[in-house]
Amino acid sequence: MTRIDRRTILRGSAALGALGLAGLPAAAAAAPKAARLPERGNVVIRNAYVMTMEGADIANGDVHVKDGVIVAVGTKLNAPGARAISGDGMIVLPGLVETHWHMWNTLLRSMSGEKAEHGYFRTTAALGRVYQADDMYQGTRLAAAEAINSGITFVHSWCHNIRSPDYAEADLRALKEAGLRARFSYGAMQAHPNTEPINLADIERLHREWAGYSNDGLISLGMAWRGQGGNNPATAVPAEIYTREIETARRLGIPITVHASGSRPAAGQVDRIGKAKLLGKDMQIVHATVATKEEIEAIKAAGASVSFSPFTELRIGFGLPQTAEFLAAGVPVGLSVDTVELSGNADMFGIMKLVQNVANGRSEDEFKLTARRVLELGTIEGARSMGIGDKVGSLKPGKRADLIMVSTRDVNLGVFTDPAHMLVTAAAPANVDTVMVDGRILKRGGKLTAMNAAQIVKEAAAANAALRKRANWW
Ligand SMILES: [Zn+2]
Repeated sequence: MTRIDRRTILRGSAALGALGLAGLPAAAAAAPKAARLPERGNVVIRNAYVMTMEGADIANGDVHVKDGVIVAVGTKLNAPGARAISGDGMIVLPGLVETHWHMWNTLLRSMSGEKAEHGYFRTTAALGRVYQADDMYQGTRLAAAEAINSGITFVHSWCHNIRSPDYAEADLRALKEAGLRARFSYGAMQAHPNTEPINLADIERLHREWAGYSNDGLISLGMAWRGQGGNNPATAVPAEIYTREIETARRLGIPITVHASGSRPAAGQVDRIGKAKLLGKDMQIVHATVATKEEIEAIKAAGASVSFSPFTELRIGFGLPQTAEFLAAGVPVGLSVDTVELSGNADMFGIMKLVQNVANGRSEDEFKLTARRVLELGTIEGARSMGIGDKVGSLKPGKRADLIMVSTRDVNLGVFTDPAHMLVTAAAPANVDTVMVDGRILKRGGKLTAMNAAQIVKEAAAANAALRKRANWW
């Protein structure tokens, strides 16, 4: 396959050579794809502005990482044998945590049109129906490359075009090859009949065989639930079907995510889930832009979390995120990309900025939501909302090493003032110098280290052209 180019093979064999191939277990030697990811090294970042998101920032701080774990955070650390990385002019912070993204349809970037027949849902359904499994791979791989480039270290792949088990496999393969930390949530396919459950047998199979998919624990499994499908009994998902889906997820102990908005009547969706006694602490509610006060309280009481994707919520007309209201109620909040079909890109800095500006604008209060608080939503609180706050989301000894370095010397970030303000109001993906996921450096000096960006974009463009031809789409 052309997917593994010559340089990759050379790099892979060089890495194996350095390790001493003879000393490797047979499984590792027989898994060239795993070998494509950089080694987890022993590195110390020196003299950076370190935002741990655990307390006070550390000016001229060091972060020592070894074998994928944060060993120490402080000043003038003793790190014997560690390779030093200069943090001069850099802000070091936890990697950005993305909490709901239809990564597969990144292949349809910016394709939501401006007439009813070319709107988001129709475009996604028309093109989603002619997707082949490899298109899932192409879309999610492009999304993964953009994520890493943008400083996102965790993604929630909300996979709702699984037309057969191959489609799930393709999405998972793209996540694994990228080296991202991720939740993969198994959903329906586009135009899935409401009278049929999603492929529960395949979810059970994946759950059973998950060790082979998790990429050493980096990827976890969830369920992307369609919900109850609106108030009209003629078009709703029958209770027998949606209950069976939820019961399967809960029996397997996998978390559930569901939209509360969309083409269906949005108001009262959370209330309906609550009335069916299905709200739970294992559930993430997406958007909830029109949730009532009672619904917000019900989400809090159930221990569920929410995910806001302000760019898509605004672009499609769902309304404005109720960030301040959910935070005041004590609900864990995560931020999300949702779909680049609508948002165009996966710029989490822009998302954080918009969340702050909308909260302040809606409340007519310049001081409603601080940049520091929004930065928490993009890191530690987003991680908590996904149930991984004990593992990542802040820089603390013992946690997995997911972090980024942002160069403050670029023209759009000069001059150095309040770092939280700089990151939320001024920073952009282009300022992300270095990205580390689980101790592996996946971007360095502004360049992806384990993915060939030019080739990924080229192959995605070819897949998009073929897709449009098959669908007879503009
Ligand atoms: Zn969505």
